[in-house]
Amino acid sequence: MKAIGITTTVPSEVLIAAGYKVVDLNNVFITSEDYDKYIDLAEREGFPKSSCAWIKGIYGVCRKNGISEVIGVMEGDCSNTRALIEVLKSEGIKVNTFSYPHDHTLADIKKSIDAFMNAFKVTPGQVEAVRNELLYVRMLARKIDELTYMDSKATGFENHLYQVSLSDFNGNFSGYAKELEGAIGEMEKRPAMDIKLRLGYIGVPPITCDIYNYVEGFGARFVYNEVQREFAFPRAAEAGDIYSQYMDYTYPYDLEFRLEEIKKQAGIRKLDGIIHYTQAFCHRSIEDVVIKKELDIPVLTLEGDKLNRLDARTKLRLEAFMDMLLDLKEVGN
Ligand code: SF4
Repeated sequence: MKAIGITTTVPSEVLIAAGYKVVDLNNVFITSEDYDKYIDLAEREGFPKSSCAWIKGIYGVCRKNGISEVIGVMEGDCSNTRALIEVLKSEGIKVNTFSYPHDHTLADIKKSIDAFMNAFKVTPGQVEAVRNELLYVRMLARKIDELTYMDSKATGFENHLYQVSLSDFNGNFSGYAKELEGAIGEMEKRPAMDIKLRLGYIGVPPITCDIYNYVEGFGARFVYNEVQREFAFPRAAEAGDIYSQYMDYTYPYDLEFRLEEIKKQAGIRKLDGIIHYTQAFCHRSIEDVVIKKELDIPVLTLEGDKLNRLDARTKLRLEAFMDMLLDLKEVGN
């Protein structure tokens, strides 16, 4: 099976129907023990120090792992992808494109997905058949999310990991379904954790994954991972077809649309506070201005760069934030 690299979530139903193994280049980068070798390679090739570590990591993965074909998302994801795609093309990597239309109308989304299907020579019927098969895996991820915020059994990191991996189903959706079934079986046997603080995580997935264990050391838990949950398409079963499914995906569209879902989940999950993670040199960091204005619960903004673990200053800020949230909770009780 031929591998195809993706730089963010795209309608993978189309690629699977076309017979590809989908590889999320972000996941290869961040799960590598020496992830920094990918960043070093990109910087040696001329990527600026003042550019996003994820972009450099994706470039490094393509170069070091012999990726020969990728999908570049030209609209709705990352302003740096266009430049990255130019570099990859110049190095002989085959680039296909996909766009999340800025207008966010069903007609435009249909046009975009139909063009994607045509490029990969698959029919809507074939794509719907794959979408129906994937629904089972998506429902398993939804169950893990419920085991986090309803049953207090899955950890914040498990919630992050099992949902973020649905961007490519770890390369094999049947194998991944079995992995999720096993994880759910094990989680269900655990006692529920006593959670002192219920945190939400919003923004791009962290480069510093130790954030999850760090907060749990203080009795807090992330019971909502915004973008990771969107990658898993928790509302896919309610969508009538592939077009509605990708219409209802919040991450690539405007902030107002994203915030509607964040506010809804903050209420359902009874969040005490939110961490807004931003990546150094990412245009999305600017959205923090609106996020802080719009959310009526405390928000702490953290920025990561190349280091894949929390530094001492960030730990201190997190600790102070959690102390403040606990004080607020006590006053409220
Ligand atoms: S963190 Fe921002 S700049 Fe970096 S890849 Fe993601 S969207 Fe692009």
